[in-house]
Parts: sequence; C-alpha cells; structure tokens
Amino acid sequence: MTPSKANILLIYTGGTIGMVKDFETGVLKAFNFNKLLKSIPELKLLDCEIATVSFEKPIDSSNMNIQEWVKITKIIEENYTKYDGFVVLHGSDTMSYSASALSFMLENLDKPVVFTGSQLPIGDLRTDAKENLITAIQVASLQENGKPVVTEVCLYFEYKLYRGNRTTKISAEHFNAFASPNFPCLVESGVNLKVNKLELFKSSSSKKFKTNIVFDDNVMVLKIFPSISKKVVETILSISGLKGIVLETYGAGNASNEKWFIDLLQNAIQKGLHIINVTQCSGGSVTMGQYETSSQLKQIGVISGKDITTEAAITKLMYLLGQNVAPNVFKTIFETSLRGEMN
Ligand code: ASP
Repeated sequence: MTPSKANILLIYTGGTIGMVKDFETGVLKAFNFNKLLKSIPELKLLDCEIATVSFEKPIDSSNMNIQEWVKITKIIEENYTKYDGFVVLHGSDTMSYSASALSFMLENLDKPVVFTGSQLPIGDLRTDAKENLITAIQVASLQENGKPVVTEVCLYFEYKLYRGNRTTKISAEHFNAFASPNFPCLVESGVNLKVNKLELFKSSSSKKFKTNIVFDDNVMVLKIFPSISKKVVETILSISGLKGIVLETYGAGNASNEKWFIDLLQNAIQKGLHIINVTQCSGGSVTMGQYETSSQLKQIGVISGKDITTEAAITKLMYLLGQNVAPNVFKTIFETSLRGEMN
C-alpha cells in the first residue's frame, strides 16, 4: 500500500512574505493571500495536499498580541484532526515570541506546527520566501510509519529548522535572520533534509492534545544597565497589577548588589511579584550563586530562567500566570522545562 499524502494546513497571518509596496508611500503593507499563493506555482509540485486559511486582516507581526496568538491556536485546534501538519506564515519581527507563545498554548502536540516567513516579499526577484515556505511545508509533511516526525512548535528559516521557543531574531538584514543559541537545530536542509532525531521534542503520547488560551499580560521585561536609577526600578516595581518581570541581567545572571537594588527586588517578591532572571548574553545560562553579584538574587527568591530566551521567558510567564499557578510552586514550575524551552 502506498502511504497517503500528508495534509497540510497553511495559515497566513501576514508579514513581509505577503507584502507589497504601497504605490503612493513606498511602505510595505500586508497583502491578499490568494494573490500571494499564485506567485508560488511550485506549491503544486509538492508531494502533499495543501489547504489554506488566512487572517481576515493580515498583519505586520509588530501588531501581534495574545488575541492574535489565540486566533492561530483556535485555527489549529479546530483543524487538528483534519491535518497532519500546520505551517504558519508570520512576520519575522516577532516570530520567536509567537512560536514560544504557541508552544505553551498547544499542549501534548503530536503534529508539527512550523512557523516561517521571509526577509523579502514573495514577489521580489531575490526573495528568500520560496525556499522558506517550500521547505517548511516539506518538514511539516515528514512522516515515519504513518506518523509525523516533528511533533512540536518550530521555526524554519534559511535552511534550518529550530525549536521555536529556543529562537531569537538576530538580523534585520541577513536571510539567516534567526539563531537558536542554546539548542541545536532540529533539521538542516541541504541536498537532503537532515533530521537531528535525538533532539526532537516528544510530548507524552498518552496525553490528549489541548490548548491553553488564557495568558496574563500583567508582565514586563526589564533590561538592567550600569547606572540604572533607584527611581526607575522603584517606579517599575510599583506598577499597579504587575505580576511578573523578566529581569535581563549580565553574564551568568549577575546584577548590581547595591543594597537599594536588592531591597527593592526583595520587597516586590515578598508582595507576590515573580521575578525571572535571564541573561542579556545571546548564549549561555544563568547560574545564580556563581558570583557574589548573583548570590543575593538567589537568596531573595529570584527565579532562574537558566538558558531560556527572553522571548520564551516572557511568554512562559504570561502562560503560567494565566494558569493561576499557586505562588508556592510557581518558582519550581517556571524552573522546569515544559516544552523543551530550557535545559
Ligand atoms: N515587519 C515585518 C513583520 O514582522 C517583517 C517581516 O515579516 O520579516 O511582519
């Protein structure tokens, strides 16, 4: 018996891939999806069935937010049994945030969800869109013994498939726009697709797929810098309703150990604020206690983000707050890898 072709759902949310230049102003704006598809006759040559669905109003991904993530999640949920894999066309600017958010919104995935986009519009002569889109679809179609090979939320860009919640956008210029500094790529596209099987995420096969769409936006990212003032930190920590902060620190999780700074953080934690320590470095991990300048952070109950990206940390924070995780286990759960987002 010949194996049946994979059924793929292509979800268009917007982004450069489908943009065109406005005649009058010269700025790039999101465009009609059907016209976009006509620019890629190659899609018909792929060995899979492709169905498409588009956001009614495609957006530049700078306008992404929780409501838009829920829209993508609902489309996947409503079509989950009908398709073998999902490809999400998305602007590159916030793609790492969305891939991270979706990795928490979609639980016990047993099918691939591949985000992709491009640096140049699909109609551009030198576009990177075609390769990204075609290979993303091929990756989503990969099957072994009738089962999808990839069963997680990923990001495909410029010959590499990454775990989505490990990525970060590193270039506004190069086609190679993403990096996954703390985790190897899952698939490399050359003459063949080379799958790094050992690194693929496996969720518990006995658990049923479900979605978690309640996210809490009472969060923020605070990047410290030499000479950050007491007034600034004090004002931020006293924002009404704020429940969690991703604190971007130096190196292995270090920050000033001036008394005013530690006292402010300690006070906020005692009042119930969750503070996550992530590093400003593009690679490596937070190890609180390695230096004197991080020992106190550990003592006062700052949560270690370990080697998580800021994108995954802020979306995990929104997710866990949305789940109403009890304060006494919040730190332990945050410090546990839920979707392969940290080591
Ligand atoms: N501004 C665009 C967006 O994120 C950039 C891109 O698609 O690459 O929607």
